[in-house]
Amino acid sequence: MPQLVEIENLKNSPTVFVIFGATGDLARKKIFPSFFELSKNNLLPEKFKIIAAARSQFTNDSFTESLKETITYKDKNDWQKFVSFIEYVACDVAENQNLETLKKTLDDFEKDAKACTQRVLYMSISPFIYDKAFENVGQSKLNLGCDIHGKKARIVIEKPFGHDLKSALSLNDKLTKYFDESEIYRIDHFLGKETVQNIFAFRFGNEIFEPVWNNKYIDHVQITMAEYVGVEKRGDYYDKAGALRDVIQNHLLQLMSLVTMEQPDKFDHDSIRQRKLEILQSINKMTPDVVSNSTVRGQYEGYRQEEKVDNDSLTETYALTKLHIENERWQGVPFYLRTGKKLTGKVTSIIFSFKERKHKLFENFYDKPMPNHVTLQIQPNEGIGIRLVAKKPGLTTSIEPVDMEFCYRTSFDAPQPDAYERLLMDIMVGDQTLFIGQVAESWKIIDPIEEVWQNQKTKPEVYKTGSWGPESADKLIKKDNREWLAPLLTICKI
Ligand code: NAD
Repeated sequence: MPQLVEIENLKNSPTVFVIFGATGDLARKKIFPSFFELSKNNLLPEKFKIIAAARSQFTNDSFTESLKETITYKDKNDWQKFVSFIEYVACDVAENQNLETLKKTLDDFEKDAKACTQRVLYMSISPFIYDKAFENVGQSKLNLGCDIHGKKARIVIEKPFGHDLKSALSLNDKLTKYFDESEIYRIDHFLGKETVQNIFAFRFGNEIFEPVWNNKYIDHVQITMAEYVGVEKRGDYYDKAGALRDVIQNHLLQLMSLVTMEQPDKFDHDSIRQRKLEILQSINKMTPDVVSNSTVRGQYEGYRQEEKVDNDSLTETYALTKLHIENERWQGVPFYLRTGKKLTGKVTSIIFSFKERKHKLFENFYDKPMPNHVTLQIQPNEGIGIRLVAKKPGLTTSIEPVDMEFCYRTSFDAPQPDAYERLLMDIMVGDQTLFIGQVAESWKIIDPIEEVWQNQKTKPEVYKTGSWGPESADKLIKKDNREWLAPLLTICKI
């Protein structure tokens, strides 16, 4: 993780970002607004440039004017400083058009800066053109850094990285032809969220959790990412991906490995990546029988009528998988990972449900089981909750569940930076801790499920918008004598 001194040193480290796909949804909604915040807070290097690269024709002025749709500012000076960093270059990285102009712009910046700059290529483009783009970047020598010191460029890649193991490996071969692993930043923006980073502090900074963080005490774990919105304008991408690939393969498996890994030797990216890898390698790879009993696929009502979605689409907008980690600590503990669009609300949480122990002393005072829970709420209302039982005040003895909460909003009087601000800073200082390493292991978990689902050739179970997903998801967990806990345990409500 970057130290204060590294952030200070960054000021004297000339840097240039090329944002391929600068006119796209992600660039407008996240990347440029995050750069604006960093610029406003004086966190960018003194010699800094953003080359906005996309196919449309824009002048610098018309491009920066268009960014006002997603960036609001109070002080005109902040805005002017920010736009002074940006230069628009029309080019097509997939068709290798005008990349020489881009290269010249990079070289000119270096000449003006009279320094060897750190070059960063940010691929905010459709994942379907990654392979062509990597090849063209390499052929055009954009992967090389400035000529003076031979410093190499860094490359940033958005999810998804491949759509199965085979395509991910082939993509990786193309990428590593031109970039070393130490220059590759695969983004999972979840890892940039404060609450996700806090998982390290929570697990390894508090002695009280380690002794109970295992199969002796924990009954099961629920990891949920529920979205209120549907596919919106991303129908063409989403319809080819589906919920399992779009969310479980990356975000939820990353969260699962962070909350279950053994303590790393050091707080650096090699040690953390190694620990996460050990978990991913220990997760069960499902046989077709297990897929039938341990997964659910659903599609929200009206999905087939969405823009750019196939009328006969069999793509799932809801996915549930019950996984196991086959190691000593977690053997026998089911992990329910579920995600869906157009559900009741927006929440991402990890809930550890502890084994219920009937305490002889209180057995007459319970109406129903009241196990302890630990909830890590990633979004919204970020925080941590612990459900305990307590005696209800009064003359009779009755035991009721109560929640102890730590809420970011009230505990820290500081704004939380957007995940992308954090990740952009890390890329600039060269810290890969919060980026994904090789993705092969997670595809090995997902591929057997996809294979069975593809062979089914049936429509996923339809669920009502605004519900908690298909009925089969409820049946699956009830069969295990358990119930869904989110949103029962949603914490830090306003
Ligand atoms: P988008 O379709 O809105 O934008 C893609 C951009 O790439 C556009 O600017 C387009 O003009 C440009 N482009 C397309 N072909 C090009 C080419 N040949 N040469 C140069 N530019 C080209 O897509 P998006 O939603 O912004 O997504 C970008 C990437 O980020 C994708 O990999 C996506 O999976 C990932 N991502 C997006 C989001 C999101 O919220 N939008 C979230 C997570 C990850």
